[in-house]
Amino acid sequence: MTDISQIPNPVIDTEEQTALRKVAFDLGSRYGIEYMRSRSDAGETTDELWKEAGQLGLLGVNLPEEYGGGGAGMTELAIVEEELSAAGAGLLMMVVSPAINGTIISRFGTEEQKKRWLPGIASGETITSFAITEPDAGSNSHAITTTARRDGSDFLLSGQKTYISGVDQADAILVVARLEGATSGKLQPALFMVPTDAPGLAKTHIPTEVRTPERQFQLYFDDVRLPAEALIGDGDTALLMLFAGLNPERIMASGMAVGTARFAMDRATKYANERQVWKTPIGAHQGVSHPLAQCKIELELARLMMRKAAALVDAGRDDLAGEAANMAKYASGEVSARTVDQAIQTLGGNGLSVEYGLAGMLAASRLPRIAPVSREMILNYVAQHSLGLPKSY
Ligand SMILES: Cc1cc2nc3c(=O)[nH]c(=O)nc-3n(C[C@H](O)[C@H](O)[C@H](O)COP(=O)(O)OP(=O)(O)OC[C@H]3O[C@@H](n4cnc5c(N)ncnc54)[C@H](O)[C@@H]3O)c2cc1C
Repeated sequence: MTDISQIPNPVIDTEEQTALRKVAFDLGSRYGIEYMRSRSDAGETTDELWKEAGQLGLLGVNLPEEYGGGGAGMTELAIVEEELSAAGAGLLMMVVSPAINGTIISRFGTEEQKKRWLPGIASGETITSFAITEPDAGSNSHAITTTARRDGSDFLLSGQKTYISGVDQADAILVVARLEGATSGKLQPALFMVPTDAPGLAKTHIPTEVRTPERQFQLYFDDVRLPAEALIGDGDTALLMLFAGLNPERIMASGMAVGTARFAMDRATKYANERQVWKTPIGAHQGVSHPLAQCKIELELARLMMRKAAALVDAGRDDLAGEAANMAKYASGEVSARTVDQAIQTLGGNGLSVEYGLAGMLAASRLPRIAPVSREMILNYVAQHSLGLPKSY
């Protein structure tokens, strides 16, 4: 008879994963939502938390050991993000620096690029942003116009990006641009690592109602001179690189979203067990308990899909990971928005208080419905790729 304990189970944590979960949750709990709020309100960054997460090996858990990482995978990095978020201290730059950029560089970078960037990304000493969104292209990333032109062995980069997270914290930005293809002669996507202090690069802060310490910026590139080694991979692999990086991005956005939902659910259920206005705790009324139970079911389903997507990335199945990562991000975004909203309702007037902290999460709880890819664009993807339906745009 097969010993079922020997079958790798992508749903049940291994002992190492359980231990990792605890380390991340404990770290997040020591900082918590009040720390994140105060940093956000003061326009300050989360340097202490980021540094400690790096020292504990949490930031680069997915990156190869030979470049200073933990040698595990996206499953583990998503566990870290989920637990930090469930403790009220999710780190948005983890979605970008180790997940998107770390994955792209470790899979497609030259040996020099790996040595240059990965150890710092893994330890957290280097933070990198990722810039694809442009004001005039929006969700249609095929329409981006930020362009690199060759100048001898250098490149000159010009264009604009918008809503780019964490540029004030970052040492460099992985910029998705266009470049005349060496073989095709056509303008094709290309990725460049651009130092944040490069001459010709300017940024302006975009204030949002999302109360997280990571801020967003509009970027202006005016003939930013880049050396040849700033081009990641070669001009012909950009699309492959993007797909390789964007699945981890969606999985991490999913980790943040389900963590946020868990945080809100925890506050709501504690309150519903304690608060009594008739003869029983309010949680005994099905008008209160059933919507929370629905959120719990949707939360567990979203976590399951996130886990599937991460397992597919870790198994090198990019061909299947795209659908799962999109579905996980969709389901997690929905449950994050719904659970925070329902938790506010559960707390009545206190749901809108500053003290209980739930109303202040509203904008952040909706963020995964919009970024990194909107729910409508995921529905388009599923309609076209999973169901074979025609494209309308
Ligand atoms: C807090 C925050 C952080 C961000 N961080 C980053 C970052 O670090 N790097 C980065 O590159 N970007 C970042 N973004 C940008 C984000 O990825 C975009 O906002 C998102 O992809 C949506 O693009 P858009 O805002 O231009 O919306 P638009 O493309 O203008 O879309 C507006 C609305 O129209 C809908 N829509 C558009 N086209 C279709 C269609 N064909 N069918 C159906 N509906 C459609 C959309 O779903 C959406 O609801 C961030 C955004 C926010 C708010």
